[in-house]
Amino acid sequence: MTESIPIIEPFRIKMVEPLPRSTPEQRREWLEQAHHNPFLLRGGQITIDLLTDSGTGAMSAAQWAAMMTGDETYAGSESFFELQRVVRELTGLEQVIPTHQGRSAEHILFATLEVRDKVVLANSHFDTTRANVEVLGGLALDLVADIARDPEAEHPFKGNIDLKKLEAALEEYGERVALVLMTITNNTGGGQPVSLENLKAAAALAHRYGKPFMLDAARFAENAWFIRMREPGQSQRSPRSIAQEMFRLSDGMTMSAKKDGLVNIGGLLCLKDAELAAKARTLLILTEGFPTYGGLAGRDLAALAVGLEEVLDEAYLRYRIASIRYFFELLDQAGVPMMRPYGGHAVYLDAARFHPHVPPEKFPGVSLCNQLYLEGGVRAVEIGSLMFGKPGERETTDLELVRMTFPRRTYTQSHVDYLAAIVRRVFARRSEVPGYRICWQAPVLRAFTAQLEPVTLPS
Ligand SMILES: *Cc1c(COP(=O)(O)O)cnc(C)c1O
Repeated sequence: MTESIPIIEPFRIKMVEPLPRSTPEQRREWLEQAHHNPFLLRGGQITIDLLTDSGTGAMSAAQWAAMMTGDETYAGSESFFELQRVVRELTGLEQVIPTHQGRSAEHILFATLEVRDKVVLANSHFDTTRANVEVLGGLALDLVADIARDPEAEHPFKGNIDLKKLEAALEEYGERVALVLMTITNNTGGGQPVSLENLKAAAALAHRYGKPFMLDAARFAENAWFIRMREPGQSQRSPRSIAQEMFRLSDGMTMSAKKDGLVNIGGLLCLKDAELAAKARTLLILTEGFPTYGGLAGRDLAALAVGLEEVLDEAYLRYRIASIRYFFELLDQAGVPMMRPYGGHAVYLDAARFHPHVPPEKFPGVSLCNQLYLEGGVRAVEIGSLMFGKPGERETTDLELVRMTFPRRTYTQSHVDYLAAIVRRVFARRSEVPGYRICWQAPVLRAFTAQLEPVTLPS
């Protein structure tokens, strides 16, 4: 038998940044100063930061080189035309509109489609997407397949939309439906992918009812890789060819380039329809900038053009998903409760089962996040009752998750080994940790700024 060869990081390192180190005493003090809310910590107080994969990755030497030659021409930047060429080839969408990040692309799209009193049908809306629909007076409906709501259920494509529910909603809301939107991968559902079959069927349904079919494509490359790995008949295709097919089903897309664009800032709105695009550009000039830069510097456009090519490299995607799987499997072997199967950009710990002695109203996800920080300077993010509970209405949510999100091309396998050791240590003393209560909270989006204090619970 020949020995199997490990999957390695497909890059070598030529510029390094020291990891902030700290003592347990310092971390205790800093967490107290941050009112026991990791969102209020500072970068220099964190050894490994898994808060988000948004704009936190490393650019390549080729991207930095492109930054140096970026064209800062205000109107008609050559860097825009290079980006437009790359995006058209990838997506087949003729109208390419840069924005400073994903949420501004969303706002401009929904304002252009005039979603007031209309309905947007999606597998799941990302939180900024939902907020942008709602602030414009529209209704955002999530129609993800039921299996996605069970964190233990194994299914290769838990991001799929429920086609029966989609058809029923198209019937029920009729004229009021503004568009069908598929988030790939489905962030809200744990970075779970959508199958090509499901995308095709959803596009066909939308078109049968005369509705535009669009993608929220922040993690399009990871989704393409899962299609190749998990969907029958796709294993021989390149991720580029799968991505091209996904985009060609669509009439448009919004993208936060801070994820699979492999850049630290940027976004895109792309459309098939020239008339709609002209309307969108009018709004763009109002809030973002001239249509050939859209809130970005020429050098940002140049780095994004390179990033969109690099992200489809098979060696990169194989390593990216393998590093998530590696972490997931180390924790699974230790019996750590998690959302299954592993997704594209993060591992989700099930804090309710991790700390069963902490009731939802005492925020088990916060308990777990704070223990990870105290144990090893690791920052994760609570996605549970602190994030989604509504004071005075519905204080707790069904799931108490802690997301450990991987920045792209930033940490190595030994960092992942370290992370797994920290989680295992916290798991070993899981019944000894406190719960939390809120001392102060903002009326909306409380998780970002809430001030908390620990409460001792019987273990
Ligand atoms: C990050 C993200 C957005 C919002 O993009 P920003 O660049 O953060 O404004 C929208 N949708 C999805 C799926 C995302 O992951």
